[in-house]
Order: sequence, then C-alpha cells, then structure tokens
Amino acid sequence: MSYKVRYVYPDRLYRILKKELDAAYFEVMSKGDFIDRQQLRRFEEDLASFVGTKYAVGLNSGYDALHISLRAAGIGNGDEVIVPAHTFVASASAIVNVGAKPVLVDVAKDFNIDCEKIEEAITPKTKAIMPVHLNGYMCDMVRIMEIAEKYNLIVIEDACQSLGAGMMNEGTGMIIKAGAWGLTGCWSFYPFKILGAYGDGGAITTNDPDVALFARRMRYNGEDRMTGEYHGHGFTCLLDNMQAAFLDIKLKYLPKWIDRRRKVAEKYRISLCDIEDLMLPHYKDPRRDHVYQNYVVRSKQGDEFSSFLADNGIEVLNQFRKPYYKHIALELEDHGFPETEQLSKEVCSLPMNPELMDDEIDYVISVIRRFYNR
Ligand SMILES: *Cc1c(COP(=O)(O)O)cnc(C)c1O
Repeated sequence: MSYKVRYVYPDRLYRILKKELDAAYFEVMSKGDFIDRQQLRRFEEDLASFVGTKYAVGLNSGYDALHISLRAAGIGNGDEVIVPAHTFVASASAIVNVGAKPVLVDVAKDFNIDCEKIEEAITPKTKAIMPVHLNGYMCDMVRIMEIAEKYNLIVIEDACQSLGAGMMNEGTGMIIKAGAWGLTGCWSFYPFKILGAYGDGGAITTNDPDVALFARRMRYNGEDRMTGEYHGHGFTCLLDNMQAAFLDIKLKYLPKWIDRRRKVAEKYRISLCDIEDLMLPHYKDPRRDHVYQNYVVRSKQGDEFSSFLADNGIEVLNQFRKPYYKHIALELEDHGFPETEQLSKEVCSLPMNPELMDDEIDYVISVIRRFYNR
C-alpha cells in the first residue's frame, strides 16, 4: 500500500540533516571511535543539561535503562513495583526480569497512571513506583512524589516517550522536566521516538552519583574502565559512540521540533474538537505541557475509524489494541482495568512528526471529517 501521509518521515529528516550526520559518520569512521569516546561523553553532558540532572549515562536501549535503574535501586526477588496497565510491555518486563512483581494500576483519561488508584495497590512488599509518561505528556509527578514520600518508595520514571516534557513544582514554581523527578529517568532513542537514533539507543538521567557510577560499570560488564576492577556481574549495554554522535546533533534541534509538533497538534485540535465521538489529547492542567511524541485520539468507532484512515492512505498506529497483561505467556494478573480496556479499543495515533507538511495535515483532517459526515 502506498501511503499519502506517513506516520514518520526519516527520509525527509535525513535530507535536512545530511551534512551534519554525514560529517559525524566520517569523523567516527576515520578515527575508529566506536566505543565510549568523546562523542558519547559529549552527548551525555548535553542530555543531562537538557533534562536538568547532574548525570546522564548512555545505554543500549530504553529497556536497559529501566533494567539497570531497578538494579541500581536494589529491587529484586520478592519486591513489588507499581506500573500502569497501559504502557509498552518493556516497563513490566524489566520488573519481571530482576525477579520482582509488577503490580498493575489502571490509567486515567490522559493515558497515564491514575494517581487516585496508586495507594490501594501499595502493600508491605512495594518498593517502587514506575510512572510512565506516555505519548509526550507527564504523569502528575507532584502527586506521585507525595505518595512515594509518604510510603517511602523509590520512583523510577519511564520517560521513554516524553523527552522535553515538564511540570511545574508547586513549591518552587519551577518547571522540572520528565526524567528529573525520580531516582532515575529512563530514555529510549529507538528510531521513532521524539529523539531517535539510527538503531537502538537509551540512557538514564539521575542526580545520584552512586547510581550514575553503578550504571557506567554495569553497562560495561561491571568493569571500572580506569582500574580494570569488576564491581559485579554486569551486562553489555553501552550506547554506541556513533549513535551518540548522531543523537547529539539531533538534540540541538529538539526544542524547535517540539514547537512544530505543538503547532501540528493545535491544527488537529482546532479542526477536530467539535466531533463528539472523538476524544483529543488536550488536557486542562496548566502545570504540565505536552511534547506530542504521539498524537493519540480515541474514536468511539475504534477499528472502523483506523481502517478508514488507512484505506485512505493515512498511516496510523493503534497502540495498543491488546493490553500487554492480556498476553497469556506474560503471566500477569488481569484485574479488569476498565479505562485501559476501553481506551485500547479506541486508540488511534495520527501522523505526528515535525516534517509533516501543512497540506498533509489538512488531508488527514479532511479524511477524518469525511468519516464522521458519512
Ligand atoms: C520505547 C519504550 C520503551 C523501551 O524502549 P526500547 O529502547 O525500545 O527498549 C519502554 N517504555 C516505553 C513507554 C517506551 O515507549
């Protein structure tokens, strides 16, 4: 099927950045700088300063960021970690793979964990909360940090979809970005994230020097590169130097790209907000901003709506039609999470990327209006 409007345009982006990306490629190739070189260190510094933390540690993927964070927090056998019922499966898999139990909590209308339902999920075994900032919109971290403090829980933010999003801290009136609230913020640079590599990539951000040091060792088989001493059984999960070089170039443009995403979102909002059967991702909390990693609408017509768009040449995603806890092999407890059940039938992510042309956005809008005027 040939699409009229694609979900993302990596080819267009490459044409825009070609000079810079090619130069970075030639520099890394000509020097043979593949592992743990200055490009990685520079990107880590720039990422930490963008997020507003003291440290960033580049890892191989978002999954690794979650996994290493849980280990840094000492979470393992017999522990419970609270995680939303609506997220990418990696959030829960990282918890299972350190031997702990994910305790699922339903989400609210903004697709993020329902803060009103967290306390009832806490037991004497609960060690941590893993809020997931989905689609580019942060969880209510003010509330989550209050709960964590009250019950003495560690917070590990799965911020893989929300680089650049922020929330105002009422105490100080300062905006604190996603990934700078918890013990760690976990990032993914999977190609189609808001900051995408050309292959897998990830990172953690943290203000804790011990956590940063732990991650630097664990990503390199537990080894301290200066002394050669192994400080534990580790993993091979370092962010490639080449990917770091590409990411550092793209990071400079991120604020501009986020502005463009917000303009695209505003265009969708203005043109679609009168359709009753369509719920748009615009929320009322003035303390939080949205970076629109994804523009996820909820259509009462579900698959019929998504198929109509696809049949008219618009590439859309339906994440996730089948909630992860309904996959039998994962052996997770299904407590019948009503909001997750309902939204998973209705979600549809519209094309959203900074390279979208105005006439392409207009086309998407016209097809949606045609669907609802049938
Ligand atoms: C992408 C993503 C991950 C995993 O990232 P990878 O880099 O693919 O391992 C985890 N959580 C969420 C919410 C994500 O969107």
